[in-house]
Formats: sequence, structure tokens, C-alpha cells
Amino acid sequence: MAKLRISVDHDICVGNRMCETFASKVFVINENGQSEVADPEGDTEENILEAAENCPVSAITVVDEETGETLFP
Ligand code: SF4
Repeated sequence: MAKLRISVDHDICVGNRMCETFASKVFVINENGQSEVADPEGDTEENILEAAENCPVSAITVVDEETGETLFP
């Protein structure tokens, strides 16, 4: 599995926990009610991309750490 660089844009995250539903070890809601990346290797690439795709405000960015390729958005 590729090493992923995952980030959440806190300017737009609305904290609806959708990402947590798809990859609960990767995305955890912090004390401000927003999603944070707790463990970028906590789930499969497929589930992480699924989480990113299902974020209602597209706050999640996923980049392949090795190739630099943006996998989402
Ligand atoms: S799905 Fe998007 S808006 Fe919802 S908590 Fe996760 S990053 Fe934030």
C-alpha cells in the first residue's frame, strides 16, 4: 500500500463525522468538533479515499507520499 499524506482543511470541515464512519482509525474528531488525521496508516487506501469522497465539503486531501500524485480531490 502506498504511503499517504492526508490532510483536513479546518477552514471548511463541518465536523459531521462522515470521514470517521469510513475510516475510524484514520479520522478522529478533535475537541473543536473537527476531523483530524490520527493515523494515516490506520485503514486501507480504498477506505481512506472513500472517506475523502464522502466528505460533504471536500475538506480532505489525499496525496501519494512517494509519487506526489494527488489521489483526492
Ligand atoms: S467528513 Fe469532512 S466535514 Fe465531515 S468531519 Fe470529516 S472532514 Fe469534516
